[in-house]
Amino acid sequence: MNAAATPVPDPTSAPASPRVRPRPLLQRLARTLLAPDAFDFWASRLRPDWSWDRPLARIVSRQAESEDSFTLLLQPNRHWRGFQPGQHLNIGAEIEGIRITRSYSLSDAPRADGRIAITVKAMPGGKLSQHLCHAAKVGEVLTLDAAFGEMTLPQTPEGAWLFLAAGSGITPLMAMVRAQAALGMPVPLALIYWARTRAELCFVEELRALAARQANFSVDFVLTRDAEAGDGDAGDLHYGRIDAQSLSMLAPDLHQRRVFACGPDGFVAAARALAADRAVAFRSEAFTPPPHAVFDDEGDAPRQVRITLANSGRTLDVPRGMSLLAALEEAGLKPASGCRMGICNTCACGKRAGSTRHLHTGDIEHEPVSALRLCVNSAGSDLILDL
Ligand SMILES: Cc1cc2nc3c(=O)[nH]c(=O)nc-3n(C[C@H](O)[C@H](O)[C@H](O)COP(=O)(O)OP(=O)(O)OC[C@H]3O[C@@H](n4cnc5c(N)ncnc54)[C@H](O)[C@@H]3O)c2cc1C
Repeated sequence: MNAAATPVPDPTSAPASPRVRPRPLLQRLARTLLAPDAFDFWASRLRPDWSWDRPLARIVSRQAESEDSFTLLLQPNRHWRGFQPGQHLNIGAEIEGIRITRSYSLSDAPRADGRIAITVKAMPGGKLSQHLCHAAKVGEVLTLDAAFGEMTLPQTPEGAWLFLAAGSGITPLMAMVRAQAALGMPVPLALIYWARTRAELCFVEELRALAARQANFSVDFVLTRDAEAGDGDAGDLHYGRIDAQSLSMLAPDLHQRRVFACGPDGFVAAARALAADRAVAFRSEAFTPPPHAVFDDEGDAPRQVRITLANSGRTLDVPRGMSLLAALEEAGLKPASGCRMGICNTCACGKRAGSTRHLHTGDIEHEPVSALRLCVNSAGSDLILDL
């Protein structure tokens, strides 16, 4: 059976439905006197996490999870609409006067106190991850967008499951492991978790303790850079990259399992190649974009193209092959952005005229579109954008 063609039954994959609350009298009164932006301006002077309608969250604590990863516990304001384990959200912080937004997975299951957790790996030279891991103070307020993502378990999962995680890809899978643990681990679940070194592994003690007390749960850790320590290693510690041999050894019942794989693009591609046709079902999510495709059909086309920003009336000359988001940022603009790999839609804007090329698929679009994702498209000709 072709597992990739068998979708995971997932009746709950839509984001949690928003709570519709009537606006209180005070808020309706305020609305007649103040525009939401003006309300936010004055309210934030009293409490930085107050807003008319924007989800914001205050950092409650930060705790080291590994050598280079930290879990931030956040207290969202009343506009946050919740999430399902396995989903992620866009988080923004102001760094040197510029709002920087990136996607992070929720790493804990929904909590009774309404707080949410993200686990962030400090990327060398990375803007937001370095800020969140090392500079942001407890009390700092971050912007949030609604949670999104389809890699979620059905409300009543069936069958046996296998989670394949690499690096930061552990975070959404950890949220799902914790959610299943809170339900008493109703279905068999195996986690295989790759990291470069021992020091980079997160959640080790918690995962081992869970495996020790839940017969339905097992965990194996695999290190790709550390050398074998020898006899002192725990039985759940292995070495090497994902390949057919290690997968057969660690998941001999792969053909009976539904698989979720999450990590960098190269890992997810390898997991898909090894498991998608053998497992009952396969679903994956990459935290890094696939490499840009190389196109050799542009011949003598000019290297620079002109972008007209219809709303502001500005014109810019940008390189053809570069993502529009990066080109606009290089020109000093700050378009809204989130995942930077074409999944969250935050950077989407209208295109009135011109041709664009999708950087991953190579697809060319000549027609006007209402939601062009700037992060994964480049200009193929002069363009007019709704910016
Ligand atoms: C759906 C999704 C979920 C995610 N979940 C998580 C999660 O749970 N935990 C987590 O840690 N991450 C997660 N990520 C990754 C996260 O969104 C960020 O990409 C990551 O934190 C890096 O952001 P940054 O701002 O620190 O780095 P950036 O500033 O965006 O830089 C990224 C890398 O590029 C390098 N770089 C930047 N500019 C240049 C340049 N001009 N030249 C050369 N190199 C450069 C930096 O050194 C850095 O290593 C997720 C991503 C996605 C898409």
